[in-house]
Amino acid sequence: MNKKVFVTRKIPDLGIDMLKAKGYEVDIYPGDSAPTQKQIIKYLKKKPYDAVVTLLTDCIDAKVFDAVPTAKIFANYAVGFDNIDLEEAKKRGITVTNTPGNYSICVAEHAIALMLGLTTRMVEADSFTKKGRYKGWSPNIFIGSDLTSKTLGLIGAGRIGEKVAIIASKGFGMNIIYCDIKRNESLEENYGARFIPMVEEVLREADVVSLHVPLLDSTHHLMDASRLKMMKKTAFLINTSRGPVVDEKALVKALQEGVIAGAGLDVYEFEPKLVPGLVKLSNTILTPHIASARESARNEMARLAAQNVIDFFDGKIPSNKV
Ligand code: NAD
Repeated sequence: MNKKVFVTRKIPDLGIDMLKAKGYEVDIYPGDSAPTQKQIIKYLKKKPYDAVVTLLTDCIDAKVFDAVPTAKIFANYAVGFDNIDLEEAKKRGITVTNTPGNYSICVAEHAIALMLGLTTRMVEADSFTKKGRYKGWSPNIFIGSDLTSKTLGLIGAGRIGEKVAIIASKGFGMNIIYCDIKRNESLEENYGARFIPMVEEVLREADVVSLHVPLLDSTHHLMDASRLKMMKKTAFLINTSRGPVVDEKALVKALQEGVIAGAGLDVYEFEPKLVPGLVKLSNTILTPHIASARESARNEMARLAAQNVIDFFDGKIPSNKV
């Protein structure tokens, strides 16, 4: 019998074609926007699917597993896997995979773009110019700040954090300090990065703080009101990791009160909803979770998700089992 795969939203054809080439029957959720958990369950109950390809917007827990007891692999199309109840999956012997590909550079470039956007005040200046408010050169408008020779503090120096450090160090001569639960020796040896075990010390020293940790119980609200207060008043916070790593309400307050200079965010605590007050702030740059929105990255994610399913059905341990 052909294996049956359900995909919770359209992903690039490359991945779908790989699954079909293996002779699997592939069904894709037909809607354009993210299905609710109820909708996912409704579709999963239609057939005895053997695998489900999920997206980070899907809440995958016991209720979903109950709806499709035949599916023994859930292949998440994302680096993060905080949308899946891993403990429940483990209890049921379900394999969960993710897609950590060689596209970390996209997210790293996005983090750097947010930093530059804030220090050059490019987004504010763009809107000012487009509104016809530019009436002549002035030495006093849109005074920004330098990145060069400043200190970048990374919280999490894994695949993405390391690439941010390399661009910041090679491109802007920034000093790199970082906090992680494990040392990144290559970053220390090749880019002079300084390991600081206490996150608080990184926050006190850095001119830009960039978050690159996964969302775990230990990283939920890692940046809360008290930690935000430890940052320099002139410092910027960049978050391209996961929204709930930052207490967004506390961040809005900190930005309103000038506790920190600004924030560049690609992810939100309750996304797609934003905490009240966030959009009114001029010292923020907000992007809609697009740090990996490149054709190259999306194709690589689709390839990896499909390969994980194929490996599983071929009796191998998928390379990206979490
Ligand atoms: P990674 O696993 O390579 O690196 C994460 C690092 O965080 C590791 O070095 C780990 O040791 C460290 N870490 C874990 N817990 C920590 C803690 N409590 N304190 C300090 N350090 C801790 O992951 P990555 O590929 O660099 O991705 C990082 C995160 O970026 C992902 O988990 C994902 O949530 C997010 N991401 C976002 C986008 C986007 O579109 N915005 C795209 C890809 C990934």
